[in-house]
Amino acid sequence: MKKGTLFIVSGPSGCGKGTILAEIMKNPGLYFSISATTRKKRSGEEDGVNYHFMTNDTFRELIQNDGILEYAEYCGNYYGTPKKPVEEHLNAGDDVILEIEIIGAIKVLTKCPDAVSIFLLPPSLSELEHRLRRRGTESESVLQERVAQAAKEIKQSNKYDYVVVNDTLSQAIADVKAILRAESCKTRKCQTIIEEVLKK
Ligand code: 5GP
Repeated sequence: MKKGTLFIVSGPSGCGKGTILAEIMKNPGLYFSISATTRKKRSGEEDGVNYHFMTNDTFRELIQNDGILEYAEYCGNYYGTPKKPVEEHLNAGDDVILEIEIIGAIKVLTKCPDAVSIFLLPPSLSELEHRLRRRGTESESVLQERVAQAAKEIKQSNKYDYVVVNDTLSQAIADVKAILRAESCKTRKCQTIIEEVLKK
């Protein structure tokens, strides 16, 4: 069976990752990895749906038991990708999406060089700050920390295979869908199809 492709999607907090990925996830054959985090649940978030929310101790245990593909600290909290579901879905032929920050992304790219990485950019830092303020999920100090973090992350976007600007939402969604589609047509992904065509 053809193995799925591992996609890494990163982008600064507030750049619209969640909205874009919610739309992308309507496509069949995709698995969205649910991360573990020590961050506090925001209102409206659900354990096991948005994240696996846990204490620092439980997070450490997960690392010690080799249950984590990658993890990183982001603005004072730990975030990590549970390994088992990712491996199971890739082996079942599903494409897997990891929505993770840049340190984790680089760790995954080192371990899984075939992973495809996409960086989502806001149209500007001032627009990002405006969007974060409109979202209203962070205190002013956390918001400022996240905007400062965004500038650092954007400087590293050249480490990714693709960059998509989320200026017009529909265009950004179309761009990410086009990348997923193009990757599924890569020659190395189509060896089985080529062999089947030759048999008929
Ligand atoms: P938030 O607190 O806004 O949900 O997420 C903060 C940052 O953590 C975002 O940049 C998000 O992409 C990143 N993140 C979420 N899950 C993971 C993960 O499993 N690993 C890593 N390295 N980063 C993550």
